[in-house]
Amino acid sequence: MKIGIIGAGASGIMAAIQIKRINKNIQIDLFDINKSIGKKILASGNGRCNISNTTLSSKNYRGEDIAFCEYALDKFSFKEFEKFCISIGLLLDIKDTNKVYPLSNEAKSVVNLLQSQVLHLNINVICETRIIKVIKEKKKFCLKSKDKKFANYDKVLISSGLSAAPQLNSTQDALIIAKTFGHNINLTYPSLVGLCMNSNYHHKLAGFKKEVKLTLLINNIIKDEQQGDLLFTKYGVSGFAVLDISQQASYYLSLKKNVLIDIDFFPNLSKEELDKKIRILVKSNKNEKLSTLLGGLVSNKLPLVLLQECNLDINIKAKDIYDKDINTIVSKLLAWRINIIETQGFKHAEVSGGGIKTYEINNKTYESKKCKNLYFSGEAIDIVGYRGGYNLHFAWASGYTCAKAITNGLQDS
Ligand SMILES: Cc1cc2nc3c(=O)[nH]c(=O)nc-3n(C[C@H](O)[C@H](O)[C@H](O)COP(=O)(O)OP(=O)(O)OC[C@H]3O[C@@H](n4cnc5c(N)ncnc54)[C@H](O)[C@@H]3O)c2cc1C
Repeated sequence: MKIGIIGAGASGIMAAIQIKRINKNIQIDLFDINKSIGKKILASGNGRCNISNTTLSSKNYRGEDIAFCEYALDKFSFKEFEKFCISIGLLLDIKDTNKVYPLSNEAKSVVNLLQSQVLHLNINVICETRIIKVIKEKKKFCLKSKDKKFANYDKVLISSGLSAAPQLNSTQDALIIAKTFGHNINLTYPSLVGLCMNSNYHHKLAGFKKEVKLTLLINNIIKDEQQGDLLFTKYGVSGFAVLDISQQASYYLSLKKNVLIDIDFFPNLSKEELDKKIRILVKSNKNEKLSTLLGGLVSNKLPLVLLQECNLDINIKAKDIYDKDINTIVSKLLAWRINIIETQGFKHAEVSGGGIKTYEINNKTYESKKCKNLYFSGEAIDIVGYRGGYNLHFAWASGYTCAKAITNGLQDS
């Protein structure tokens, strides 16, 4: 039995290791464009690698049919993943937030240990090779790179990811190859990514960071709410709350919808509480500039922009302000509307949403419903996780499930 695996990321490596552990006589060729395996794992979590999460459910994912991932998450639960980690010598650090990191706090140790398994199990790694075509001739598959042909594969797994972070040699090849076998694709879009605004002030706020609540509005309908850090940047907004809301924002941008976000700069204060605080400031400091006073409430980058956006003189003194102006300021601080024009794009995205339609893949085996013995795993499939280790976990879990199906009935005696 000879198996070709296209893409040596988290899902391809997991599949290769599991297949060999079940039957060491199966021959595996593991292809990757990069010089070495697991390049994206190295880049993940800012080099720390948020490798998994202890609370896993389909609710942590987006896609046309999120129930698709339930079987793999159940078969390869966090507990199962932890056992696997121990089996390769990797210890884990489970945070209070349920996020899981390597105890070493370094993605490099994850890749080193996976590499050592790959070597130990005699998995044939073929690096610096981009597979651009998969052809099925009678019962065997043939894989083609630009100048080479690799033949006689009984089964092929496409685990080559999608377009996020092209600087790491990410490609859309999985989609191109899947299409040649009659698969349909859901539009891909950058996800977990900064959002670009069109305003004449956001560059003035660059560097200003605050815990906020964000509300995503599409055609005046609330589609998502997220609370967490927001960071203004030269291009627009970033920060954890923005990355979280970017999944839906980016999806709707790809559908050419008008994307608006309301920022509540004081998610832990009621309207009345904020109103009271501002009135106290104004009453007790009548001769002070309002912009200076507001600097005591929120970073001093915001007040000047706030006054401009409320059509107030930036030099106005507290004593000259009307009741209605305070109402306007409070309303603005609790629902500051921004217009999102685009995302920062795939280059800056952590993952790609969209991909190969799940309806055309068997969720218990990850085998194509269009072509026998052809399998898909990982990010190439139309399943994308929220921030928190969910994307890597789906890559591990889908690779594992796929390996179990590929080796069904082929256990080493
Ligand atoms: C900067 C960054 C930070 C991230 N941080 C986290 C995090 O902390 N936690 C988390 O859960 N997720 C994180 N992610 C997302 C996560 O890394 C991915 O979702 C996951 O690695 C996907 O695994 P995969 O095996 O499906 O695909 P990939 O890891 O993308 O692997 C696919 C491999 O196939 C190769 N390839 C592509 N086309 C071909 C071809 N035609 N022939 C041969 N090889 C090919 C690619 O070069 C790549 O090495 C992060 C992503 C990025 C970019």
